[in-house]
Amino acid sequence: MLSLKQLNKTYDNGVHAIDHISLEIPTGLFGLLGPNGAGKSSLMRTIATLQDADSGTIHFNGVDVVADKAALRRQLGYLPQDFGVYPKVSALELLNHFAILKGLTHRGERKEAVEALLQLTNLWEARKRAVASYSGGMRQRFGIAQALLGAPKLVIVDEPTAGLDPDERNRFLNLLARIGENVVVILSTHIVEDVTDLCPRMAMIAKGRVLIEGAPQAAIATL
Ligand code: ADP
Ligand code: ADP
Repeated sequence: MLSLKQLNKTYDNGVHAIDHISLEIPTGLFGLLGPNGAGKSSLMRTIATLQDADSGTIHFNGVDVVADKAALRRQLGYLPQDFGVYPKVSALELLNHFAILKGLTHRGERKEAVEALLQLTNLWEARKRAVASYSGGMRQRFGIAQALLGAPKLVIVDEPTAGLDPDERNRFLNLLARIGENVVVILSTHIVEDVTDLCPRMAMIAKGRVLIEGAPQAAIATL
């Protein structure tokens, strides 16, 4: 469970990007819906400890994230928007390198983890191809494989379906839904169907504020 209470963030230019946001986010896939400029990325970066809020609290499974960022980072998988590094190195090699950085130093354990993620993301056949040669959908699936190294308990995915064709989008969302029961997975998106199709819970934000939250169909019906 991720618990946000009265979070606030105003940038130097005066934009109040996060305006008193309180949310309880349970395990499973959670949709964070909002138009461009709603504050989704600001909220994701704040939860991921990449930027500080001005005030408010964040607790993950009872642990104060602001006081102990390292504890959160050890449990975090983060796929930023426009994740842009696609080198001419194979997916297999890259994942192996990232796995080492994540602390998977035992060779057998690492091989097992990397292979399982390549299977999960349907990249096994393409594992020896350079990530730079991948299609948009494959790149996003590779990004998720990388984010899932080390079995994170909190997975944050920022606008992952932008630019994907319908088949790739479905594939990607189904993959997110399969990540695991004990994992909090936050999917940020401006596409209503991303949330209504697969997320059991959602919140809609605009101008930094929570407009509605709950089960998608019921919540959207109140708009
Ligand atoms: P979203 O992800 O929903 O598109 P953002 O969190 O990126 O929303 O942006 C929310 C608002 O904050 C926008 O008005 C954006 O221009 C502004 N903003 C985002 N990042 C910064 C920043 N680093 N400095 C100043 N303003 C920012
Ligand atoms: P998003 O679509 O996720 O909101 P943006 O394109 O708004 O992404 O932001 C990309 C980067 O630019 C982020 O690091 C964000 O903090 C920064 N940024 C966004 N809006 C502004 C702004 N008005 N002033 C300064 N930096 C901004």
